[in-house]
Amino acid sequence: MDFIRETLGNTKLTRETFGNIPKPSQVLFYALAVLACSILAYGLFCRARLWWLGQPGWRWRSLGRAATGFFREVLGQRRVVRRLFAGWSHFFLFWGFAILFIGTLLLMADHWPAEIWPAWHFQYGLYYAVYKMTLDTAGIALIAGCLLLAYRRWTRPSSLGHNWRDWAILAALGTMGLSGYVVEALRLLWSRPLLPGVSYVGYALAQLIGHGHSDAALRTAHLCVWWGHALLGLTIVAVFPYARLFHAIAGMLNITGEPAQLGAMRPVSLEEVEQTGKVGVGNISDFTRGALLQLDGCMECGRCQEACPAYASGKPLTPRGVVQDVKRLLGTIGPALARQPRSADGAAAAEPSPAGPQLHEDTVTAETLWACTTCSACVEVCPVRIDPAGMIIDMRRYLVAEGQLSGPPATSLRRMENSNNPWGLPSEQRMEWADGLDVPTVKQRPDFEILYWVGCAAAYDRRVRRVARAFVRLMQAAGVRFAVLGTEERCTGDSARRMGEEFIFQSLATANVETLNRYKVRKIVTHCPHCFNALTKDFPQFGGHYEVVHHSQLLAELLRQGRLPLDGDGASRPGQPRAKRITLHDPCYLARVNEITAPPREVLSQAVSDGATLVEMARRGRTTFCCGAGGGRMWFEEAPSQRIGNLRAQEALATGADTVAVACPFCMVMMTDSVAQANSEARVLDIAELLAERLPDSPAEKQNPQT
Ligand code: SF4
Ligand code: SF4
Repeated sequence: MDFIRETLGNTKLTRETFGNIPKPSQVLFYALAVLACSILAYGLFCRARLWWLGQPGWRWRSLGRAATGFFREVLGQRRVVRRLFAGWSHFFLFWGFAILFIGTLLLMADHWPAEIWPAWHFQYGLYYAVYKMTLDTAGIALIAGCLLLAYRRWTRPSSLGHNWRDWAILAALGTMGLSGYVVEALRLLWSRPLLPGVSYVGYALAQLIGHGHSDAALRTAHLCVWWGHALLGLTIVAVFPYARLFHAIAGMLNITGEPAQLGAMRPVSLEEVEQTGKVGVGNISDFTRGALLQLDGCMECGRCQEACPAYASGKPLTPRGVVQDVKRLLGTIGPALARQPRSADGAAAAEPSPAGPQLHEDTVTAETLWACTTCSACVEVCPVRIDPAGMIIDMRRYLVAEGQLSGPPATSLRRMENSNNPWGLPSEQRMEWADGLDVPTVKQRPDFEILYWVGCAAAYDRRVRRVARAFVRLMQAAGVRFAVLGTEERCTGDSARRMGEEFIFQSLATANVETLNRYKVRKIVTHCPHCFNALTKDFPQFGGHYEVVHHSQLLAELLRQGRLPLDGDGASRPGQPRAKRITLHDPCYLARVNEITAPPREVLSQAVSDGATLVEMARRGRTTFCCGAGGGRMWFEEAPSQRIGNLRAQEALATGADTVAVACPFCMVMMTDSVAQANSEARVLDIAELLAERLPDSPAEKQNPQT
């Protein structure tokens, strides 16, 4: 209370702006400030001109959503602080810098109008006391952030980069903080203000410097350090657009655009292709403006690289590398492109010079692009919402259109085109999986309540057929009135689209939507997360709007309703062991992309017999690790040493599990291979198979145990 009484409205509690700074120095400072701001503005203009080379396609967020994003992600640093050490170090640096910057602006706002209207003055009294204390605290945060990030940089693997420019920026920011305190301490010593303790760090430093110096010496030292501090500050302002610091501006702007929706893709229309003559991204100017802006938002933190399964398995892909390499290319050829004539919408009309570095091969190799599983780990983990996976798929589209895909993946595409499934097997065989089970088609049961989308893997792969059979047994036991499309079902085209073959995908999607709409399908269940994603995020772009659930969700619901008669004891088929220790591998397209993590665990908790335990892997739920099959990688041949599934199988087996539960046919195939390769006897079973083991014996299943 005494403090408030002493400070409130006390006009003597203030400081003289530019105290001890002679008029010529002030004029020179302002001249240099104008120069620094001009360099900053020119840098911003140059970067914006490079972003403008891209294609239109920036989708603004509504004002409300942009403001929420700004508060949560910029001010709150919500995604940044997900990493404890690096995140909070960045948080301190960001807030320290931001508060000091705002403090400097407030000082100017107090000073400039007073030059014309001397009565203008608000930096005094209680406000001034709080202002000084806040700025002194912000200085501590800035210096602490710099030191912590320097420590991290020093101890991090060299593969993540030891760029001298980053060291220079950290040193400059830290020195700014320190020199600010020295200026403050010297000013306190010569000006002897009221309540010097409100500048508590400067005051402590002043005590260290001591009072035995002459005023003249203190004033000279103050002027010299002030100039050093001012020049450093102006240099930081001027280099802002040319250094990593620029991610703060580009990242902030990125918040104003719609963030990438995991698992969703931008459609390519035939009209667009006819107009532009282009498919996908073949040149730097084929990226959207939003994508080019994102390049500048990259803070090179390396989180995407650490999360990337392709990188972990020794493939040449690193999402951070892709973003940085493309950014370098933009900086190299962009300025020349920006000087060339533009199309009517402002996008670059001309192609880069054939003599200059090219996007494909010179900058990003095909091997790099094909390594991506589209698991979305990089997108999910990026603190500034950069979408390297989207950029990769756009570049793949170009490669496919140029006929640069060969071997088994190209064969799978041809099969999808000719036979409506990647196995290339006839549609007539699509119902063989259901032999001996009473599975009605939509024609046979037009009053079905839910459509079971079987998917190509369960239709044609012998192992995955058992998953479909187990799921059907469960639905029948629960009395679910379901039906299937039977031979009328086609591949969803998920892997075609993510391999970059948009047109085969579109033809499959359109035909499927036509079939689904013809049968007036409203609700769909599927055991395949890739089909789930296509049905929920791809098909609506082609007029298919359905309520879609994953089989884990339906099973969890049936369990909650008590509709499943689980009177079995959890024992497996004769000759097979009983699950005692189970671990769940979350599929990327279920857990991360579609945020379905609890239902499979609910199912497992009922599926396991008494005494069995569920052991979790460290990477689970939304931070799960890929099996290696997504994005069309299922159809690529791979050296055993580079199999992502092997890494995941090691993680699963390290839990000591005797059963690896999966909830995706692709994961089933990959994990089965990798567990076998590890010479483990652990079983890989779908959650539906585990739950079905608790059903009373099914005669049909006994007759067809290997179906
Ligand atoms: S989507 Fe997955 S595999 Fe592809 S770059 Fe990102 S993290 Fe790597
Ligand atoms: S893309 Fe995102 S996660 Fe990757 S290095 Fe850049 S900022 Fe970090």
